[in-house]
Amino acid sequence: MAIIDKIPVVGIYGGTFDPIHYGHLRIAEELLDIIGLSRVIFVPSGAPRLRAVPEASKHHRSEMVRLAIQGNSLFSLDEREINRPGMSTTVESLREYRSEWGRNAVLIFIVGIDAFRKINQWHHWRELFDLCHIIVVPRPGYLSVDDHQNLPEEIRTELIARCVLDAKDLKLQTHGAIYTAQTSLLEISATQIRSLISMGRSIRYLLPENVSDYIKINHLYAGKT
Ligand code: ATP
Repeated sequence: MAIIDKIPVVGIYGGTFDPIHYGHLRIAEELLDIIGLSRVIFVPSGAPRLRAVPEASKHHRSEMVRLAIQGNSLFSLDEREINRPGMSTTVESLREYRSEWGRNAVLIFIVGIDAFRKINQWHHWRELFDLCHIIVVPRPGYLSVDDHQNLPEEIRTELIARCVLDAKDLKLQTHGAIYTAQTSLLEISATQIRSLISMGRSIRYLLPENVSDYIKINHLYAGKT
């Protein structure tokens, strides 16, 4: 198949972003380069199905993403999940993206290795491969995706069938592949940031200054563990 040229290659980065931090932003920036993404869309989740209710409201989490991506014309915020009533599922958003971008667009969902290891718990998870590619990014403290032995069997099967070793191969088809990107290992998490705030400690240099100002002004995360 010929390389699909001049068509959008869209990175979709879902998360609770409670709050967004430099781990998310740097990974997205590196993927613009490594994959040649046309853009990255940040999609804050509404009410997540599989994890605890986020500490900050949908509105605050979304505003923090808006502030964090200011000034980067290749990053955008999509509020569809926070505006959707009820539980939010990734597959629902991907179905919408596919119909909005058309069948020729290359859609790539970005996920950290911690989330990928549990992807078989996501609603209609196998349908994701009919809608998009998946890029798995490493995180410190988590086994690499190459460590197949420790992956749930059904994820391992999909990984073996779908993995591509060259980022260029993601542009040979519009969906259905899994690629492990060699992005930087950044030991930053929203949990760590929330915990530092609750202890009254500095969060400087872990996230953009305008986001940390927003957290301060709105008294987010203070007094909680
Ligand atoms: P929490 O600590 O509250 O679980 P988080 O820091 O993992 O939050 P999320 O918003 O839950 O942030 O993450 C959204 C996506 O970004 C997930 O796929 C997650 O694996 C990935 N991610 C988060 N932080 C990093 C990081 N430092 N490096 C690579 N991927 C990351």
